[in-house]
Amino acid sequence: MIMHLMKLGVMASINQRLDYETLQAISNQFGFEAVRKLTLEEQILQDEPDDATNLLSRSPVITIMGHVDHGKTSLLDAIRQSNVMDTEAGQITQHIGAYHVELESGSVVFLDTPGHAAFTAMRARGAQVTDIVVLVVAADDGVMPQTVEALNHAKAAGVPILVVLNKMDVESARPDHVKRQLAEYDLVPEEWGGQTIFVEISAKERIGIEELLEMLLLEAELLELSANPNKPARGTVAEAKLDKGRGPVATVLVQNGTLRVGDVFVAGRYNGKVRAMINDRGHHVKNAPPSTPVEVLGFTGVPEAGDQFFVVGSERDAKALSEFRQAQHRATQLGPQSRVSIQEGDIKE
Ligand code: GDP
Ligand code: MG
Repeated sequence: MIMHLMKLGVMASINQRLDYETLQAISNQFGFEAVRKLTLEEQILQDEPDDATNLLSRSPVITIMGHVDHGKTSLLDAIRQSNVMDTEAGQITQHIGAYHVELESGSVVFLDTPGHAAFTAMRARGAQVTDIVVLVVAADDGVMPQTVEALNHAKAAGVPILVVLNKMDVESARPDHVKRQLAEYDLVPEEWGGQTIFVEISAKERIGIEELLEMLLLEAELLELSANPNKPARGTVAEAKLDKGRGPVATVLVQNGTLRVGDVFVAGRYNGKVRAMINDRGHHVKNAPPSTPVEVLGFTGVPEAGDQFFVVGSERDAKALSEFRQAQHRATQLGPQSRVSIQEGDIKE
């Protein structure tokens, strides 16, 4: 084998590790076919691609971003309140890190952890949860550093941006000036021949909120978002904490499939079994279809925002995978930590 490898230009020793292509080449020469063994992750998390006939449309998931004090929180509040008043008088939405808004023509899901931190944390873990970024820019202040940061994040993630010009009630609002500023970042309004939807609002005066929601649905329609509700759920952890009374709880955004009470799952390094699910209105639910945020009880530990959430076939698999991931995690933790302690020791001496 070593000789054959030499002919292939690989100077191998007797306990050399070879890449898959080399292994294939060398096994062929000996009349064998190399087959790559699936990793534990791959075995357990195998997912068949959805057939077009199984796909149903799903609601868009929105993240609100923008410069500090431009009105992100006010906008979220305005949307939540207008919706609560319209549909379920007096009912207060639970804070679970995400909520949905029902409209006549559909519904929209908002990730309620505004700003770059959540978006970036999730992206860093490879999670793609947001379908549309709402970029809030105060019309009296214009493009600011975090505005640019936010639009760059959205562009890097390939997520379409809808611009909201907020604080239109303020006398010094200069929407055209802000539009010109944003045009320099390729966010050109439709009336100027561009492709970006701009909505002018006042979060404080609750003006333009309905129009914004309609525009989000319109934009979502163009994206043709779909999912297959008839399979085991997959999603992303949007928020997680250790609750004194209830133990670890996490808000999971179901992205595909349907999550049911009793389902066995893995999320990040932890596994579990869905003990209960609570929706954004504070109601217990038995199942959660795609684009539904739900608070999930039944984790063995507190996962992290951005962790992928998978329903798996058996408790044995779930346990095996979480043990494997915990071992991996310990190994990566040990590396830098031991280095730090050595450095600290050096300093002391
Ligand atoms: P965030 O930092 O982006 O979450 O911004 P906030 O929602 O906390 O708003 C910052 C400040 O701007 C607060 O004092 C709000 O009351 C005010 N504000 C937000 N929206 C509007 C608006 O439409 N008009 C006016 N006049 N003030 C607003
Ligand atoms: Mg805020």
